[in-house]
Amino acid sequence: MSQGDCFFDDAELNLYLDSELGRERQGTLDTHIISCPVCARRFEVPHNLKIRIKDICGKTRAPESLRDSTIKALENSQAGVFSGFWDAILAAFKGRPLVPVTLAAALVIIFCGALFLKTESSHGESLVSSMVHEHNEYLEEIDADNKIVSTDGPEIEQWIVANSGITLKLPYDKGFSPCGACAMTEDGRKITGLFFGDSQNRISCFMLPGDISEIGTPGAHKIKDMNLCCGKETGANYIAWSSGQTVFILVSRLPEATLLNLAENLI
Ligand SMILES: [Zn+2]
Repeated sequence: MSQGDCFFDDAELNLYLDSELGRERQGTLDTHIISCPVCARRFEVPHNLKIRIKDICGKTRAPESLRDSTIKALENSQAGVFSGFWDAILAAFKGRPLVPVTLAAALVIIFCGALFLKTESSHGESLVSSMVHEHNEYLEEIDADNKIVSTDGPEIEQWIVANSGITLKLPYDKGFSPCGACAMTEDGRKITGLFFGDSQNRISCFMLPGDISEIGTPGAHKIKDMNLCCGKETGANYIAWSSGQTVFILVSRLPEATLLNLAENLI
């Protein structure tokens, strides 16, 4: 997976969903979403919504008489009698109170479906998604501009304080070997990333301004009176907590227990 193959933005995702990208780009993304869990997830939600709307619209049929009246009204409108159009629609529904009710219900279902899917991909999930994406990019060795690559714990601690003002005591003496840190900006927010271990054993710790309510409901685990949010996103485990004005999100393919162990050493 390379970063260049990911959906550029939501506009490109929408064009992709409608098969309106050029053949070459469409083909590249076809191949890419099979191997990129983050893009696969981004694609899945609007794709499922489209299928649902198509399904509902396929089942709800307008009455034959409405079709005839509409054609008649259009013919009349061409002859300059457009007001007859609404009369025709009213006439079609007359004596069939269930027809408009069914159509209204279908619209409500579509609207609620859209709302449900929107809630599902609400801000908290998108924050976690983007952090999982950053973590995946680091597994692929895509680096930020402003970074420190070092295994020297105290040096990394100093770099983090200087860049973000966050004071951390790294547990390098407890089996967690830091390998670097970086500063990046996502959606206008300054994020500090701290990394332990390498390759598939890597743990990313992202620190950014915000509140735990953006991630979810804390309480799944408790460490030193601190309530944590835990979850799984596209194959990666994450746990999160907030301290002061900073949200901490640990992401890794390692088991949740390992993340909890690291959290215990960072909190
Ligand atoms: Zn991707």
